[in-house]
Amino acid sequence: MTGAGQAISTPTATHTTVEPLLSALKVRKSYGGVEVLKGISLAVNPGQVMCLLGPSGSGKSTFLRCINHLERIDGGRISVGGELVGYAQRGDRIFEMNSREVARQRRGIGMVFQRFNLFPHMTALENITAAPIGVRRISRQRAKDRGLELLDRVGLASLAQSYPAQLSGGQQQRVAIARALAMDPQLLLFDEPTSALDPELVGDVLDVMRTLAADGMTMVVVTHEIGFARGAADVVVFMDGGVVVESGPPAEVLENPQSPRTRAFLDSVM
Ligand code: ADP
Ligand code: MG
Repeated sequence: MTGAGQAISTPTATHTTVEPLLSALKVRKSYGGVEVLKGISLAVNPGQVMCLLGPSGSGKSTFLRCINHLERIDGGRISVGGELVGYAQRGDRIFEMNSREVARQRRGIGMVFQRFNLFPHMTALENITAAPIGVRRISRQRAKDRGLELLDRVGLASLAQSYPAQLSGGQQQRVAIARALAMDPQLLLFDEPTSALDPELVGDVLDVMRTLAADGMTMVVVTHEIGFARGAADVVVFMDGGVVVESGPPAEVLENPQSPRTRAFLDSVM
């Protein structure tokens, strides 16, 4: 962490301060007595891209999973769009969300994984429209129109009727991105979206992510693609051992890292 000036909203924030879309405050998470998140605090403003870097095992995936209800935190708090994750506030009391509230909240948070996890028996278009039709109760025709529009946006308009097995890894990942977008998320989480791809397929996926960023999508991206972080991130966060070691604009963290741990990591991936 580069200092106390981290953009966490505080009670002293005035109306001119932008409320972060995502904020995490002292988030803790343990697995079987081993603490893997040791008080993560960070914030992402609307329209910002945060790139999360760090060695394997530093807790990056766990942190993303906590944002998206795939894990429960043991301490601290996370909020998305001004709402606590997993907890509902009524008056000044805080209750655990019921499953309906959890489902509603999760719909607003898209996630793209390293492995694309497309349904193999569905076409690209069906993969994209399944949740809007099944979960959001959007009409088939509207979901289809929107799905085709999203496929076009990720450069795959001509492959709507293809099955995952007929697509390259990069194309599958772009379908997975379109699928996440189809739920109109307010926040998109990416967990090493290009790590499983052959090198020649990485560029197209990063291009789509750059376009989303330019269009104002709020994104948290766990990645080892330093070039992407340098060009697309508003904030780069370096995590190690379950803590935020440092954070700041890419020009600071990537070009002039303050911590030897950050420097060693960057040397290993650049
Ligand atoms: P990263 O994504 O930065 O590589 P992870 O969040 O996957 O790190 O993992 C952080 C630590 O938590 C690792 O030591 C990992 O072994 C451990 N871990 C992650 N998931 C689980 C789990 N479901 N059960 C037990 N330990 C886990
Ligand atoms: Mg991971």
